[in-house]
Parts: sequence; structure tokens; C-alpha cells
Amino acid sequence: AHLDRIVAVDGPVHAFLNVDADGALAAAEKVDADRAAGKDLPALAGVPIAVKDVVVTHGQVTTAGSKMLEHWVPPYDATVTRLLREAGMPILGKTNMDEFAMGSSTEHSAFGPTRNPWDLDRIPGGSGGGSSAAVGAFEAPLAIGTDTGGSIRQPAAVTGTVGVKPTFGGVSRYGLIALASSLDQAGPVSRTVLDSAMLHEVIGVHDPRDSTSLPDPATGLVEAARRGDVAGMRIGVVTELGGEGYQPGVRASFDHALELLAGAGAEIVEVSCPNFEYALAAYYLILPAEASSNLAKFDGMRFGLRVEPDEGPITAETVMAATRGAGFGDEVKRRIILGTHALSAGYYDAYYGSAQKVRTLIQRDFNAAFEQTDVLVSPTAPTTAFRFGEKVDDPMAMYLNDVATIPANLAGVPGMSLPSGLSDDRLPVGFQILAPARADDRLYRVGGALE
Ligand code: GLN
Repeated sequence: AHLDRIVAVDGPVHAFLNVDADGALAAAEKVDADRAAGKDLPALAGVPIAVKDVVVTHGQVTTAGSKMLEHWVPPYDATVTRLLREAGMPILGKTNMDEFAMGSSTEHSAFGPTRNPWDLDRIPGGSGGGSSAAVGAFEAPLAIGTDTGGSIRQPAAVTGTVGVKPTFGGVSRYGLIALASSLDQAGPVSRTVLDSAMLHEVIGVHDPRDSTSLPDPATGLVEAARRGDVAGMRIGVVTELGGEGYQPGVRASFDHALELLAGAGAEIVEVSCPNFEYALAAYYLILPAEASSNLAKFDGMRFGLRVEPDEGPITAETVMAATRGAGFGDEVKRRIILGTHALSAGYYDAYYGSAQKVRTLIQRDFNAAFEQTDVLVSPTAPTTAFRFGEKVDDPMAMYLNDVATIPANLAGVPGMSLPSGLSDDRLPVGFQILAPARADDRLYRVGGALE
């Protein structure tokens, strides 16, 4: 049914970069055979899933939305991919994304944008717009996204879906094409909070192949989502994430969700996180710095694209320059230049060093806030889905869409976006919940209460 739905709607939506109908059907048939043989099956066996194209899949092209990897076939599975296969979940295909996960609109994909199923003239969020659109358009019941600065939560917000960024280290990064290693985290995209909880428990296990993988598996999430009990919980509204720049209809939808939570017995308090004001600036130094280092491996020798210069000598350096010049898009080049500059001798302390200090201050803001509250909440994004072309030539305007999601990545804490209804422009609004590190179950308690 999902493969049929993809055929019917993915032309205009363009959530998928490639679809593996044969592979998905074979995996589904295996589950049927196991079921007929009376085998005990995992809870999500047979439930198909779409995977963001930054997560490697053995034998299936993985591009990260870049010309650099247009024809690259990975020789191994990411841990996340392996866990999905072991859970008997057929992989429908790979979803579109901003190149190397840099962006908030999927307009930076080298293979054309994905369209928002709510309004095809609008962006589906980014960088994981393909995953959220696939779920929002009923092409897949579940998807995997990755969130370095909001790329699971913001696309979920603007497509009326649920997206979860687990605690940093909660899901293995092995086999994720790295953007910024200290921030990257894979997680679920779904239509309900309970569905995300089920998928989160499948992928949230310790992995010795990732040195930052947490020792304990994610448990109790499904139970928390089912209970959805917020009575007596202290819910902190972050002052700095909701004032100026937030669309009135977004704010109204957010306030309505707060009323529902108060009605369910939660205590709503206001908390200030004064250093969040600097989160965006710190992130857009730390991310390019780490990205410039992670993307150095695309040199025309080892992976994917190789371009030789038209004239002059063929040396490692000239091939590298020609390959990177042709293979990377503008946004990727912009960030590599920024990151390389921020890391260069004489500037390191002023830029990267300062940004790391701000990161510590943001972590302290979270610690102080969580001393008085169980969870923090805010709108996920300041606006509903914007129109194509509105921000693509203005990087600062694009970056500003991430103000509310970035603090969680800088501090490594978990976050969820779930739909809180429609704004006055009839577009979906996301409600963000943030919890202390390793207290991912609280996201599901609060999310479950709102569902
Ligand atoms: N919009 C953010 C960025 O462009 C988010 C990226 C992400 O989470 N992958 O960096």
C-alpha cells in the first residue's frame, strides 16, 4: 500500500531520492514467512520505513543530497539501518535532504527540493524534509531523520508530524555521514507520539562502534507515551524562545497546548535561559568548524565523485580542487570556508574557542532550568512553512529558523516536536518539548498527554 502511495503522490512531493520496492517487498515477505512459521516477531516487524539519505544502507545508493555521492553504493549498513533490518522493518527507500544536512528547507538538495504535502508551494523543512514529507503524505508510516541543529524537529513542525532528537549518544552515529560529530543524532519521525516511542526503542541501543554511544538502552518510552500522565509535572516555558520573531498564529497554537497541559494537571512556569540568545551564533561557528573537518574526506580519491581539471597538471591537489569545486553546492562551500577560517591559526581562540565557551554557558542554563522544572517547552520553529525561494538567498534568514531547536543540540539534551494544531494560515505548528539528558521518557509523557 505504501509503495502504491509513493507511486501516486511522490511525483509532486519528491520525498524520495530512491525507492527500493523489491528490497522492501522481500523484507515484508520474510516477515510473513516468519509469522506463518510461528516465530516470535519484534513489535514493528513488517512496518515499512523511509530512511534519510545521510544514513548508509548496504548496497543501496546513499547520496547525502550531494552530487559528491551521486552514485555511491555503501559497502556496509549503519547501525541504525542494521537495527531496522533486524526488527523486520522493510526499508522503502531513501529520503531527500539538504546537501550534507545543511539547511532548513531541503532547497539545498542537489537533486531538487521536496514539497510540503500541506501546500506544494511551501518548504517541508530541513534538512530532513524528505523524511517528514514522506510521513506527512502517508508514503511511509515511519521515517528516520537526523538532527544536528533541528533537522528532525523543524521538518516535523512544518509538516504536522512528530519528530524526536534523542539524547546525544542515545542512537549510534556509526554509518551516519557526519555533519558535526558533537551535535549529530538520528531519531524517529512519525505521525503519532506512540509510533515514535516504538521506533525509538528499536534504534536506541548501545553500540560499541560509536565511542559516544550511551551504555544503557532507551526503555520505558512506549509506556510513558501510553500513560501520557503530566499531573504534578513542572513544565517550564522558555522566555527566550517565543517572543519577537514568532508568528502570532504559532504563538496562539503554542498557548493553547499549554492550556491543555495545565488542564491535565501540569504546573506551567516561566523560566529564563539568558544564554540561549547566543546559541545560534555559537552553533554557526561550531557546526561549520566540525563540518569542514568531516567533509575533508571528499577529495576525489576515496568516495564518489572525481573530477580532473580541464587543463594543467593532474595532481592530488588539482583533482581535489576540481572535484570539490564541482561536487559541493553553494551552502556547503560557504560553511567549509567559514569553518576553515574559524579553525585557522590566529582565529581559533576568538571564534571556535569563544563558541565552545558559549556552549558551556548554554549547558549551564539547561542545568539551572531543569533544577526547577521537569521539561522545557517552546514553539519548535518561529514560523509555519515558508514559501520556496523566500530565504534561500539569505543565509541569515534561513539560519534564524533554527533558533528554538539549536540549544538542545549544543547541550546534548533530547527534544521532541509534535503538532499542536494549525496556525491562522491553516498550516501546522510544532510544539517542542526538551528534557534533561537521558530523560527521553519525559518527552513521551508530555507528548502522550497532548496526543
Ligand atoms: N538547519 C540547521 C543547519 O542548517 C540544521 C541542520 C541539521 O540539523 N542537520 O545546520
